[in-house]
Amino acid sequence: MTAELIDKSLAELTSCPGLFCPTIAIDGVLTRIRTPGGMVSCIQLAALARVMERSGCSQLLITNRANVQLRSIQNLTEDDLNDLQDAGLAARNPDIDHLRNVMTSPMAGLELGAFDVVPALREIERYICETPKLATLSAKFSIGIDGGELVSVRDRTNDIWLVAENTGYRLVLGEESPSDIVSDNPVGLVRAVADRYLNYVPYVVNKSVNHRRSRKPRLRDVIEYVGKERFLDGLLNCRILEHRENRKTVSRGPTLGKTELLDSYLLHSQEDPDRIALEIICPLGKLTIKQINGLIAVLEWFDLSEIRLTPWQTLIIPNVLRSSLESIKIALAEIPLNPNSNHPARGIVACSGKSGCISAATHAQEHAQLLITQLEKHPDRSFPSIHISGCEKLCAQPRDQSRGDHRDGDIVLVGYEVNGTERYRVEQYGLRYELQDQLLCPEDAIVHIITSLNAQND
Ligand code: SF4
Repeated sequence: MTAELIDKSLAELTSCPGLFCPTIAIDGVLTRIRTPGGMVSCIQLAALARVMERSGCSQLLITNRANVQLRSIQNLTEDDLNDLQDAGLAARNPDIDHLRNVMTSPMAGLELGAFDVVPALREIERYICETPKLATLSAKFSIGIDGGELVSVRDRTNDIWLVAENTGYRLVLGEESPSDIVSDNPVGLVRAVADRYLNYVPYVVNKSVNHRRSRKPRLRDVIEYVGKERFLDGLLNCRILEHRENRKTVSRGPTLGKTELLDSYLLHSQEDPDRIALEIICPLGKLTIKQINGLIAVLEWFDLSEIRLTPWQTLIIPNVLRSSLESIKIALAEIPLNPNSNHPARGIVACSGKSGCISAATHAQEHAQLLITQLEKHPDRSFPSIHISGCEKLCAQPRDQSRGDHRDGDIVLVGYEVNGTERYRVEQYGLRYELQDQLLCPEDAIVHIITSLNAQND
């Protein structure tokens, strides 16, 4: 990249690149591809691999919303964009592609006892793609659909949640408590909320002015302006509560999903007792082109059609025949892909740090990789979750603590810049970490973490 381009890029760094509005970062072009529900078919994986080859992108990143981010040498071309659109990885309308920001459990539609929310996911995606007026929504507008799965993403933040229950989908606005609004028409719920937003947004002052791509008010800003009760009353006027005759209802019982560790492999049970979902650790959420091509070959060989990306930056291969489990594990190890849950990278999460975020004080990704390399030297140790953030915004989220409720024992590294040098404050939740009040250089922080963990293990 030229110096001029790098300068420009630093001014434009943002944490929210899209497919049709890539972000220039220090070492490449960042492009984010929305994969609703984290579901990626074999055909889509092949399209991703082709685009990566052509654009000079050696590895993709699974994001903490189970989307895909590419860091390529050059902008994607029209051919690349067409390829992604043809594969169903992008909307035909560039103005609304980023709104395909819909999250579900990676086990959606697979777990025994949970509601199958995949049809709702597909209907909502279709509605978004076919509704150009939604381009007026905030670029950060996000939807979550909860089928009550054991492998849950319900702790993640979304503008609206649709929570499946016996009588339909209950609407939850942001982090509010569940509303009284239940509908058997999930698209109707999304449409009603979107219409309410569009009605009021011209009158609302944006409170997120610091974010370049969030100049439009967030849904929460509109709700605050209108008042929650009035906002919901307006939804009632949209008649989303109507019940249809002969509506097919599902009987909700406790989910019968089960997650088990078998010889250190993380397996999720499925409704079909002959099949199982195998979770694979991708250190720091990264997959190389070689791994993607190897994965496609394995999926085809075992007659499997898709993977599921998780917001904790792993991937799940669903529908594996229990009888094929041993052979698929051997085939994955050849790629290599590591389905062993004891991999030290399992609990390590890092934000994009200086290579992708203008707010960063530290190279969080690079330091996380250094830490993983050191932890690999201690295969017999158990490790807590370790979250490395490049600044105090703490974007590096652990699996179940997206709202900052860290588990006791979790270690958090917070990046600071001190006189032009990179430093970390190291905290350990539930424990008084001996170095809590010091700012350490990255290498010292890593050494102290390993020393401390080894002492705890002894
Ligand atoms: S924690 Fe800070 S440096 Fe990391 S992505 Fe968030 S804002 Fe950027």
